[in-house]
Amino acid sequence: MKVGLYPGSFDPITYGHIDIIKRALKIFDKLYILVSVNPRKNTMFDQDERIDMIKHCLQSCQDKIEIHTSNTLTVKHAKALGATHIVRGLRALTDFEYEFQMTHANRVLDKGIDSVFFMTDNKYSFMSSTTVKEIAQFKGDLSTFAPPYVVDKLKQKTIDS
Ligand code: ADP
Repeated sequence: MKVGLYPGSFDPITYGHIDIIKRALKIFDKLYILVSVNPRKNTMFDQDERIDMIKHCLQSCQDKIEIHTSNTLTVKHAKALGATHIVRGLRALTDFEYEFQMTHANRVLDKGIDSVFFMTDNKYSFMSSTTVKEIAQFKGDLSTFAPPYVVDKLKQKTIDS
C-alpha cells in the first residue's frame, strides 16, 4: 500500500489544495493530510476550523484520506504514520526555491522519506490561501477559489472581524 503525507497550513483549504489531493490520490492508496499547528503563525482559522473545512470538502474521498495535526517535524510524522513520501504542490517558480530547500532539509533529517510534487491545473496556479483571505477581506467573489462551504466560513470571519 502506498502511503503519502500532504502537509500544509490549509488556512483555508482552496480548490488548489483539492486539485493536488485528487492528483495524489491517483498514486497513493492512502493520503494523510497534515494540518500544521504553529502557535507563532497567525492563522485566520484555528486548527479545528481548518480540519472541519477539509473534512467537508473531501467527503467524496474520505475513505482514502485521514486528517492529522502536527507541531513536530514533518518527516517524523511521516515515519510514525508509515508514509514514504511527502506530497507538495507546485504553482509558479516562486514555490520552487522554498520547496527545494525543504526537500533537501527533509532528506538530511530522514533519507527514507522522499518528496513528490504535483503541478496544479493552470486555473489554480495563481491561487493561494493568502490571496483568498485578501479577497475575502474586500468582499470579492470567491466562488472560483474555494468550495461554497469554505466561502461561507470566510464570509463569517470577515463579518466578525
Ligand atoms: P504551507 O504553509 O505549508 O505552504 P499551504 O496550505 O499554503 O501551506 O500549502 C500547502 C501545499 O499546497 C504547498 O505545497 C503549496 O505549494 C500547495 N498549494 C497551495 N495552493 C496551491 C495551488 N493553488 N496550487 C498548487 N499547490 C498549491
